[in-house]
Amino acid sequence: MNTIVISPEFYNYGSLVVAGILKNLKHKVNYFKGFKNKINADITFISLQSTIHLLKYQKNINSIDSFKVVGGPVTMDPSMVFKYLDVDAVMVGEAENKLENFMRKFEENKLDEIEGVILKDQKDEIPKMIHSNSLDRPLPYIPPDIKNENIRGANVYIETHRGCPGNCGFCQVPKFFGREVRSRKLNEIVNEVKEFVKMGARRIAISGGTGTLYGCKKFKEINEEAFIELLKNLSKITGKENLTIPDIRVDTVSPEIMEAISKYTNGWVFYGIESGSEKILKKMNKGIKIETVYEAVELAREHGVKVAGSFIVGYPGETEDDFEATLSLADDLMLDDYFVSIAEPIPGTPLAEEVKNLPLDKNPVFMEVNDTNVSTIAEFRALKLMLDSYVFRKIPMPMTEKLFNMILKEVKSQSKHIKTVTYMIKDMI
Ligand code: SF4
Repeated sequence: MNTIVISPEFYNYGSLVVAGILKNLKHKVNYFKGFKNKINADITFISLQSTIHLLKYQKNINSIDSFKVVGGPVTMDPSMVFKYLDVDAVMVGEAENKLENFMRKFEENKLDEIEGVILKDQKDEIPKMIHSNSLDRPLPYIPPDIKNENIRGANVYIETHRGCPGNCGFCQVPKFFGREVRSRKLNEIVNEVKEFVKMGARRIAISGGTGTLYGCKKFKEINEEAFIELLKNLSKITGKENLTIPDIRVDTVSPEIMEAISKYTNGWVFYGIESGSEKILKKMNKGIKIETVYEAVELAREHGVKVAGSFIVGYPGETEDDFEATLSLADDLMLDDYFVSIAEPIPGTPLAEEVKNLPLDKNPVFMEVNDTNVSTIAEFRALKLMLDSYVFRKIPMPMTEKLFNMILKEVKSQSKHIKTVTYMIKDMI
């Protein structure tokens, strides 16, 4: 079978895995980044990461003349995919476990027999999320120019495990991958990283929702031995300066883990801190206490590990006092770097459900504010926190006009994106 796999913006790991499996099944596979190439295929698999892609690439996708299947995080809400895109099927959730059967049934013209694949004429069906027990699979397709890829500083994010026992209201990992952690075999991860490095990739990030859960079985019962072994083995291949662990929960660290991060990686941790208000943390279902944030930051410092923290503003119900608490925590922590986002209602998450029913004039993303630079409460808080973070970070940076404009542009862009997604989930566009 002649197939094409498309990822619109970057070499998204999930789409590389899909292309690798199709190749292994002996199908002819072409992999395209973006929509510039001429499509000539029996089936085109399109991997979409963000709700906004449904609008942004609507024209490109609708004009493809082939049987079209959409996969990726947007499949959490198949009816929304069919609303915006003229495609034939949506492969809901994890794709690897369905591909072989899908290709067989496609040839037999019996696609309606596959669980977890919704066809155009079944668009109102509620999808079933199927999580496979085994994460064994062939090597992903590795593009020849992988060394030029830059996804938040890495050439590629390698999956080490799936699922998260956490249940944060803004995150789609627990539903998409489940709350039970499933880890890949160490030798498979090692072989994969070796192949990426052989093909020219240098900077490797490991991902799986929250890094230190590799090998763990129950929530917060981290498997130090498995995680340390993972870092040790990967670091041998990449060199410590080229290995990154992006996201970690503040309650899944220990001195041993921090020591290993210091010894085997580029020496950064990225904590999901989100808010300085216990009330908002509870509303987010984050499951962490502020004191745990302080302890985790301190632990990293004791081991010479740098800390970046992510914060979310404009969550429904966030008051001025809640935001002040976030500002005060962010100031107090004096982190090495800060990432600030306006709360995004990703379809399928509890946050999206809340936003769907929340009147716009009660949503901080739309609530107006009187300010010369921004027009909504969420924009105001994002701008304030981003600007202040340059002052209270460990090594403060002077605020130049250029930097200010860059930050303002980022805030406006986030706000525009999230307003559009909100209109989409509220069925207003
Ligand atoms: S801990 Fe991280 S991966 Fe897990 S649910 Fe929360 S945000 Fe998602």
